[in-house]
Amino acid sequence: MSEKVKKKKSNTSSPNTLEAHIPHHTMMPYKLEPYVLTNNEVYMNERQLSHFRRILEAWKKELMKEVDNTIIEMKEASVTVLADPNDRATQEEAFNLELRTRDRERKLIRKIEEALQQIDDKEYGYCESCGVEIGIRRLEARPTAVLCIDCKTLDEIREKRTAQ
Ligand SMILES: [Zn+2]
Repeated sequence: MSEKVKKKKSNTSSPNTLEAHIPHHTMMPYKLEPYVLTNNEVYMNERQLSHFRRILEAWKKELMKEVDNTIIEMKEASVTVLADPNDRATQEEAFNLELRTRDRERKLIRKIEEALQQIDDKEYGYCESCGVEIGIRRLEARPTAVLCIDCKTLDEIREKRTAQ
């Protein structure tokens, strides 16, 4: 059942091409049960808010576990002194990569916390830029989204231009 729902996801909202750019480590580490909409449901009612609270809290927990594990692993690894300078360089590279990943994860945790705060304030799910409803399906694909798909697209176009 969940297989079918997953595949249908993309035609309920705008094309999901942007989501493909999300690096793997920011993907949600568990299978999401899509929200089942009933008729005439008010956007971001209590049931919807608690649906997203559940998603965000589970995601945060998972990320924090990963951050903790890495710290332990790196502490253990750094105790071992490698004789070969090449090995040391490789190890250092691996450490740096890990650190960058953890840094991104910490930023993501902060975004998740902000989203949870918005749920508390019942402000979750609206575009920061134009105020429009971001939409259940887009939020399920990216629960920390603060822009609607149109504003996000414009934003990325602008970003690309300034990067050139
Ligand atoms: Zn917008």
